[in-house]
Amino acid sequence: MNKGKILITEDEEIVAMVTRRMVISLGYDVVNIVSSGEDAIQSAKEQKPDLILMDINLSGEINGIEAAAIINKEYDVPIIFLTASSDEKTISSAIESGPYGYIFKPFELNTLKTTLDLSIYKSKTERKLRESELWWKSSIDSIDQGIITTAVDGSINYINSAAEKILGYRLDECKGMNYLDIYKVYKSVPNELFICAIQDSQNNPEELLNSKWFIDRNNHHIPIEETVSDIKDSNNNFLGKVIVIKDISQKRESQIAVVAARNFYISLLEDFPVPVWRANADGYFNYFNKTWLNLTGRILEQEIYYGWIELIHEEDKEAFQNLFKISFEKKERFECEFRLLNSEKKYSWILAVGTPFYELNKKFAGYIFAGLDLSKKKVLEKELRTAINKAEKASSAKSNFISNMSHEIRTPLNGIVGLTELLFDTELNPDQLQYLEMVKQSSDVLLNLLNNLLNQSKLEAGKEFLHESTFTLHDVIDEIWNPIFAQATLKDLIAEKKWECNFERKIVGDKIKIQQIVLNLLTNALKFTEAGKIELIIINENEIELSETNTTLLNLHIIVKDTGIGIPIDQHERIFESFTQVDSSSTKKYAGVGLGLCIVKNLVDLFHGKIWFESQPGIGSEFHVLLILKYAMEKTSGEVIRI
Ligand code: ADP
Repeated sequence: MNKGKILITEDEEIVAMVTRRMVISLGYDVVNIVSSGEDAIQSAKEQKPDLILMDINLSGEINGIEAAAIINKEYDVPIIFLTASSDEKTISSAIESGPYGYIFKPFELNTLKTTLDLSIYKSKTERKLRESELWWKSSIDSIDQGIITTAVDGSINYINSAAEKILGYRLDECKGMNYLDIYKVYKSVPNELFICAIQDSQNNPEELLNSKWFIDRNNHHIPIEETVSDIKDSNNNFLGKVIVIKDISQKRESQIAVVAARNFYISLLEDFPVPVWRANADGYFNYFNKTWLNLTGRILEQEIYYGWIELIHEEDKEAFQNLFKISFEKKERFECEFRLLNSEKKYSWILAVGTPFYELNKKFAGYIFAGLDLSKKKVLEKELRTAINKAEKASSAKSNFISNMSHEIRTPLNGIVGLTELLFDTELNPDQLQYLEMVKQSSDVLLNLLNNLLNQSKLEAGKEFLHESTFTLHDVIDEIWNPIFAQATLKDLIAEKKWECNFERKIVGDKIKIQQIVLNLLTNALKFTEAGKIELIIINENEIELSETNTTLLNLHIIVKDTGIGIPIDQHERIFESFTQVDSSSTKKYAGVGLGLCIVKNLVDLFHGKIWFESQPGIGSEFHVLLILKYAMEKTSGEVIRI
């Protein structure tokens, strides 16, 4: 059994041999026997013995006590002194070097045994203690929280490296100082943090408010988390304190950034000029901005939960609640109009727009509402409706008046025209004939104007309808083309008519209105063209078979082109409005009152057709009309059936 390795340092050979035998008989190994202090140091280094039996008086440069001091310092090997002298001085200087024991020579086996066994045990225990101390120290050093331990009187006996960083002191600098001298902590919250925390009341402000601040060696204020505990022994005696501190600057900075951002949005919402309110994920209303509270004249406590619902008008309440319930279940955006009792105890019309909102992790967090005050709009709407009604009534009165007047004037005018015709057949001198010609021309113009007025007022009043008959397009178009052609020839203009398709098949439609459309356009082309050409092009764009009714529709495209004065671009938009002419001087130069195109447009609308034009001043104009007509069904006998 090997109880340990022993180095014997003894310059008396016999004593050394006897000691060796005794040591071995006690179950220990002797790793070496040396006779000088220097050799003992060398052997301690090389053989690493568990214990050294060291004679105090050695021959050589250094004695046993000096050698022991070096070995203690360098190699940490326990030493037992062997001494023959019992003088006080030697003993006390031996004790100062911290030996594990000393034995007076000559000694008995028992004495050696007791001293050796105890020393080896003590050495092992101390090593274990040192190892365990090393273990916990390095563990404590590796954690990122600062640890300060103090003795009963508050003097620091240990700080780990994290604490060194926070405190700004090294362990060797502060060991023994009272911890309160270097660990200055206060508990207060900077103002801006306090505001953030209050406004962030959703998000547990305690954490922010409870935090402590530490002032370091350079007077920097560092936010910390701190726990202070007492260290007590098994008999509950107070041995000191352990303080654990954590620098939470980074956490605090990000917290402040989050809170500041939230703060920004909250103040934005608070002062937003429309009422904003919010429901949480359970559907309870928990936020109303300042604008809302100003609108209702109430305090937050009255509005939260479902408090505000009582302000909704009885007739609108159920609709809102139902819509909110359905949308809430589906997490859908919704809009709802309702009347809300305001601070003046009157109802304001509110358009509430509710939008679901989500947390960062996409978890549904509730609804956010914005309300638009529609009261002014509603009043305007009402006023507008009244104004429109009035205008419509006035317009219909005007149309009626025009139509009545036109009728009234037309009857005597027809008499004048008829009698003028009769007068032509009587004998007249040249002057009378000339005057009669002028009467005839003026009454024709007047009759035409009255017809147009009558037509337009009927169209405006919605009293004009399509009257269908069966005809061929050739007949209908030729009827109006021939006089136009004659007038064009009189003006030295070329007049061309092109059929781009075969239009022999009979058509059902309102031929008078088709003639009116084409005639108006041709008359304008003729009127506003001094030289060049006017053209009428008729195209069958396409045909559509409607199998259910066995009907064929045709898409008739009529183009009227001229090389006349053209229409300035800035007039294009208003050219179809009634009584619109490009410039008033044209009224004098070219007869007309600006009704023709308006009538054409209204007629095209009756056909559910389209009209548009292209025109350039000085180059000419091109008017396009698309009309949907239908073919007449023909029996085998050739008899035409009207649809
Ligand atoms: P008007 O009775 O004056 O012809 P219209 O409604 O038919 O009334 O036309 C309105 C105005 O549009 C005309 O006064 C004229 O200025 C312009 N206009 C219409 N057609 C033509 C055209 N082919 N060439 C040039 N200007 C035209």
